Amino acid sequence: MTKLVSKWNYPTTVRFGAGRISELPDALAAAGIKRPLFVTDPGLAKLPVVASTLKLLDDARIPYGVFSDVKPNPVESNLTAGIEVFKKGKHDGVIAFGGGSGLDLGKLIAFQAGQTRPVWDFEDIGDWWTRANSDAIAPIVAVPTTAGTGSEVGRAGVITHEETHTKKVIFHPKLLPAIVIADPELTVGMPPFITAGTGMDAFAHCLEAYCAPGYHPMADGIAIEGIRLVFENLPRAYANGKDLAARAHMMSAAAMGAAAFQKGLGAIHSLSHPIGALYDTHHGMTNAVFMPYVLAFNRDAVEERIARLAAYIGIKGGFDGFAKAVLKLRKELGVPHALPDLIKGLDMDKKRKALIADMAIVDPTAGGNPVKLTRKAALALLDNSIAGA
Ligand code: NAD
Repeated sequence: MTKLVSKWNYPTTVRFGAGRISELPDALAAAGIKRPLFVTDPGLAKLPVVASTLKLLDDARIPYGVFSDVKPNPVESNLTAGIEVFKKGKHDGVIAFGGGSGLDLGKLIAFQAGQTRPVWDFEDIGDWWTRANSDAIAPIVAVPTTAGTGSEVGRAGVITHEETHTKKVIFHPKLLPAIVIADPELTVGMPPFITAGTGMDAFAHCLEAYCAPGYHPMADGIAIEGIRLVFENLPRAYANGKDLAARAHMMSAAAMGAAAFQKGLGAIHSLSHPIGALYDTHHGMTNAVFMPYVLAFNRDAVEERIARLAAYIGIKGGFDGFAKAVLKLRKELGVPHALPDLIKGLDMDKKRKALIADMAIVDPTAGGNPVKLTRKAALALLDNSIAGA
């Protein structure tokens, strides 16, 4: 029987709704930020959505700097460069603006600028976060422009260690932004591939959190409603990017996924992290590829829970019905069915597979999988996702 003992951390103030980006100057004042560093990625930096947001700062006569040297799947050199700009510009807070990449790097700049230890000393391992000087962490206002990672309501930042090609999760309670502006209008320009990939990321967060063992009824409740929102709205947002209601519901589902995954994640993420680090694939799309294979692998442990979830969202046929609905949704969204469809020219030899399996079983998300992710299981899952069977 599950022990009824748990720890619940619920998130930050979210100013949610279309047009609310206009409240950015007010949100900065509320967070005590007078001289923000605006952090985003170079793709977004070229889009009108950034120009119009910066105009809000100009109009309010807020002095700011811009840093946009952020790779998708950000790396340490991005962080080092960002910290230098933050210090040089004497900034007192960060506007983290973007998808998970811009949000995470912005959060990590605010965190790391005042630390003396390397960022890797704050990996999400045990209580490593207590090593940080928490008084030196600058406040963060987060503005998501994708609807997937939920990083805006999370206490973690993901960064790739370039030498070891591993994605590391950096954790501190003060990485939680002070204020979030969740404005679905900012996500309207996402191209279909990113809409699908980020939306499936939100789905994977909700699904893995719901399936993770442990007592967390709040996370479970949030996760199943998040999954319902994904099934109802992701195909709509994918088919018509201007459908603002669908965009808004997906933005909620993304935040719900991250609120829920404090309960735990699982093998979808454990496999997706090494693939993302080694092949630079889109995180959410990689999760989407692994989803049906991991679901089948976990079947015995989650069959009853998934049947309950299926009934809640109106899918007939229990576990099998849900598994079919996942495949149908992936197809509708153009998600590659097998890894070689995602990574063109993929040619994984035995050694490479062994490396990925070894990385997967030590990934911090592996412990949340309802069935133990052994090396043998990780290898089998990898083979299945390569064969598409
Ligand atoms: P992303 O931030 O890497 O962005 C992907 C692409 O979409 C970029 O080219 C970007 O310019 C573009 N883009 C973003 N918003 C857009 C918009 N509104 N219009 C047009 N283009 C837009 O993608 P993501 O999936 O949001 O984030 C992935 C990153 O987040 C990965 O590094 C992943 O590991 C990390 N992540 C973090 C957490 C967390 O809890 N902190 C959770 C999951 C994933």
